Amino acid sequence: AKGSHGPCSTGKFSNGKQNRQTEFSARRQKIAQQRKSLPIASVEKRLIEEVQKNDILIIVGETGSGKTTQIPQFLFGAGFCRDGKVIGITQPRRVAAITVAKRVAEECGVELGQKVGYSVRFDDTTSSSTRIKYMTDGLLLREALLDPYLSKYSVIIVDEAHERTVHTDILLALLKNVQSARSRSVADDQGINFGKKNVNVGMSLEKEYGGQSSSFLKKDNHDKYAPLKLIIMSASLDARTFSEYFGSAKSVHIQGRQFPVDIFYTLHPEEDYLDASLITIFQIHSKEGPGDILVFLTGQEEIESVEKLINDRLTQFPEGSQKLQVVPIFAALPSEQQLRVFAPAPSGFRKVILATNIAETSVTIPGVKYVIDPGFVKARSYDPGKDMESLIIVPTSKSQALQRSGRAGREGPGKCFRLYPESEFEKLEDSTKPEIKRCNLSNVILQLKALGVDDILGFDFIEKPSRTAIIKSLEQLFSLGALTDDCQLSDPVGHQMARLPLDPVYSKALILASQYNCLEEMLITVAMLSVESIFYAPREKQVEARTAIKCFSSPEGDHITLINVYRASNDFLEKRSIEMGKAKFEKAFRKWCKDNFISSRSLRHARDIHRQIRVHAEQMGLNLASCGDDMLQYRRCLAASFFLNAAVKQPEGTYRALASGLVVQIHPSSVLFRQKPECIIFNELVQTNSKYVRNVSRIDYLWLTELAPQYYAVKN
Ligand code: ADP
Ligand code: MG
Repeated sequence: AKGSHGPCSTGKFSNGKQNRQTEFSARRQKIAQQRKSLPIASVEKRLIEEVQKNDILIIVGETGSGKTTQIPQFLFGAGFCRDGKVIGITQPRRVAAITVAKRVAEECGVELGQKVGYSVRFDDTTSSSTRIKYMTDGLLLREALLDPYLSKYSVIIVDEAHERTVHTDILLALLKNVQSARSRSVADDQGINFGKKNVNVGMSLEKEYGGQSSSFLKKDNHDKYAPLKLIIMSASLDARTFSEYFGSAKSVHIQGRQFPVDIFYTLHPEEDYLDASLITIFQIHSKEGPGDILVFLTGQEEIESVEKLINDRLTQFPEGSQKLQVVPIFAALPSEQQLRVFAPAPSGFRKVILATNIAETSVTIPGVKYVIDPGFVKARSYDPGKDMESLIIVPTSKSQALQRSGRAGREGPGKCFRLYPESEFEKLEDSTKPEIKRCNLSNVILQLKALGVDDILGFDFIEKPSRTAIIKSLEQLFSLGALTDDCQLSDPVGHQMARLPLDPVYSKALILASQYNCLEEMLITVAMLSVESIFYAPREKQVEARTAIKCFSSPEGDHITLINVYRASNDFLEKRSIEMGKAKFEKAFRKWCKDNFISSRSLRHARDIHRQIRVHAEQMGLNLASCGDDMLQYRRCLAASFFLNAAVKQPEGTYRALASGLVVQIHPSSVLFRQKPECIIFNELVQTNSKYVRNVSRIDYLWLTELAPQYYAVKN
């Protein structure tokens, strides 16, 4: 349709502006039509009535029925934002929060950040006029630190509750309290009741943060205590758990539309599911009718490598004979690129969407007719006995497999290719274990402590984590200096740590670096470690990639290597940005990254994170010093920060992690893979067929007892 609006085709009196206007109103019309045809559109009135009748409502509806995009708009229309109140919608995934907010802004015909906005960690587009606010569940938890009554919200929707992320679970408990506190406070004015103790959280925060927190305790402002409506939304059919948790709350089901999907299995297990995916993509493309393909992969690295394999293969075909358009979607994709997956492919082209499990239920991409499901997902796994958290690639659950195949049948009959034998399907778990049962809890406990929850073991979790896991995490926080002997947040370290939007070990590293005069370096480190992988080594170019990395690599390890990359990118940016225009500059930056086998997406993301945590550090009054080239100081700070992840070499060349006793190996991607120093610290444990540690640096064993005596003097 775009082409037909060229200046010549619409008559001699038209101009560019008019054309854009026609195009614009055509698009608005199309959107209005799409909205009307969603299954949820026919139940708007009933839904609003239910929300008005019930303070807590559970809404279960098939994926793609319009829950996330439409319900907030219905509520807005029904007056839930009167008096400047806000409707908050939480998502477990940042990409969902961002893309949905952009879509809803467009549906409402407003600019993002006005009536509709989103706020995720390191990226906030909301303003004082925002009334429909999409955000991550973790972000709302942080808001509760500063505004314990969440007073600006009239409705909070916890979306994708079936995902049962640890943040969602904690949020549900928190909201339960906030809701009862707000309805109580209409009658009498008390603090929020967490289990046993009444704590005036706001008061202590006000003291802590120099009065930044809300003034919710002022009695004259009763408006803030207006009752809070809670909506829990979920794609799966298990409303019972939520309903029971909220005292037999009402639940409603929204009928979706689902066409039949044919399921195909492989005859034998596939050795390499990336290869198998690639082959299946081209098979579908050559044998099947029109329709887009959605492939589920486990992460950015896999997606980028398949993306490259497809594009390489396309260049081998005669020009134009293979009309495939590849679009990736994953969490760290720059937000301006995320919307590309929703745009239809150019006419005659088939779109191949390479997605993480974000496309399972969080976002619905139109046009998909074929799904390729290798059957894996990257998940957190935690062994409380060994106190080791790792990211591992595990088989999906049955319910995930069903959700994935369902994506092929939204607009018509579809096909799903599971890249494993049918017998394997039967062996899958029915559903995924809630994350709270398989993650380290120190982050959550730190936040709960900051919210004034004293009795963590007695806390009203929707599902209790194991006692061992709680105790291990308390111990960890204690050894990081965040908790006092009687399990209170320590002053100032514990409070500072709770304030930083980072993993507790990283927060502690920044605080320590401020004392070691190497905060600039540690900010870079933490930012670079917060993205999936800076280096990018395509399978067929491993050798070239290794050579390229050499010019950044430090014999001391990966941390300094990452700093070298960051500093080199600074140099590049400083030199080029002055003389080039933006577009040209972008291109040069991408080329520079490509030549150096660096993922430009990851680096950009890391630079973004760096900018933001630096602001936090500044606001907290940390000492923004650089150690320049005195890397000894920096490495000592690494040892002092990450002593919980120290390991020593064993005679056969493997390493023994000192805290857990686990036997691990240095990951081949590390610059220390061959050197194998005597003693190391690491930041990540990955488990494939054996246990690998990534992001490794050389330290001196003696530093451990010197710098972390509270831990090592006792232990060893
Ligand atoms: P649910 O939350 O019930 O799974 P959603 O509200 O997310 O459903 O999606 C409703 C519809 O909106 C779907 O058809 C989906 O394709 C469409 N949609 C959502 N986001 C976008 C977007 N950014 N661009 C185009 N269409 C979108
Ligand atoms: Mg949704």
